Amino acid sequence: MDKANVYFTSFKATGQENLLQKLHRLMKTAGFENIDFQEKYAAIKIHFGEYGNLAFLRPNYARVVADYVKELGGKPFLTDCNTLYVGSRKNALDHLETAYVNGFSPYQTGCHVIIGDGLKGTDEAIVPIDGEYVKEAKIGQAIMDADILISLTHFKGHEMAGFGGALKNLGMGCGSRAGKMEQHCDGKPSVNQAACVGCGACQKICAHAAPEIADGKAVINHDKCVGCGRCLAVCPKDAIAADFHDSIAVLNCKIAEYSYAVCKERPCFHISLICDVSPNCDCHAENDIPIIPDVGMLASFDPVALDQACADLCNQMPPIAHSVLDENIKELHEDEDHDHFHMTHPDTEWKSCIAHAVKIGLGTNAYELIRI
Ligand code: SF4
Ligand code: SF4
Repeated sequence: MDKANVYFTSFKATGQENLLQKLHRLMKTAGFENIDFQEKYAAIKIHFGEYGNLAFLRPNYARVVADYVKELGGKPFLTDCNTLYVGSRKNALDHLETAYVNGFSPYQTGCHVIIGDGLKGTDEAIVPIDGEYVKEAKIGQAIMDADILISLTHFKGHEMAGFGGALKNLGMGCGSRAGKMEQHCDGKPSVNQAACVGCGACQKICAHAAPEIADGKAVINHDKCVGCGRCLAVCPKDAIAADFHDSIAVLNCKIAEYSYAVCKERPCFHISLICDVSPNCDCHAENDIPIIPDVGMLASFDPVALDQACADLCNQMPPIAHSVLDENIKELHEDEDHDHFHMTHPDTEWKSCIAHAVKIGLGTNAYELIRI
């Protein structure tokens, strides 16, 4: 495969051009206008940030993208899917509330927010891909209904995937609750016995009679469970959770295959901003000291090349004093391959995601970095 073009601009700004104008120029130079937006629905996949987190992308950047789509005749909306874990984005109402509190209101961004997988995370499209790990991806229906997909990613560290880039935003982020479960584990949740009060809500919602209650506690029969995720949303005690037991490499391969499902057969465009590079995902209700200084904004039609370019640029940066990265380098007395994300989370490795994405034809990790 030929090298992919990845366009880059730094966060240096002048009185002649602020960062919002720079982002617009970056998108234009990268070929955004080559997409036919006329009367088309364009999903802008973003992370609205968990309540309490302050590292997520400012809504002002989302407005640049939404306005540009409208300028080209399209109908943009911002979107994300509900989370698997307990937090402020577990169902569509909480998720919308969090998005608005964090500034993603239509007044600020110029477009609406649609939670991709609906009220309880069960509104999904089944996308056949016949992958090595995933046969049918379960993607938020509203995201699959869009004619065009744009990922607008805050590039940062991630405690499981190594970093959270375009592929993580697309693959895991667009998965419905069942889709996320499939990526994190074999798709079947379990009950925390200490938290369960035996109310029976999980039994009532389950179409497969998988939750069984004995001695006032529920147990999920994995032979009957099909991993739809409905019980997670109804448990009043948040006692039901996915079993996070797949290896990091398998998780990364599934993320790549889900990204493929999200992107296939429609125009896509990908933007990543490397700023406030927190060690953990924006799913955390806090953000620690960034591990490296801000780098810049990147755009490409190839999400794989984009992630590779972002990682390479990050790894050229010096660690920020007192960050987790800085502390780990001092403690471990090493900086293996100068891989900042592996050093930040030594149990993770991000390369298997990119390697698998290349293998399945989602994109290439060979790129030409074009500075504008
Ligand atoms: S819904 Fe939750 S608390 Fe109620 S029985 Fe099921 S697991 Fe237990
Ligand atoms: S995940 Fe779905 S099939 Fe499995 S126990 Fe929960 S509701 Fe039933």
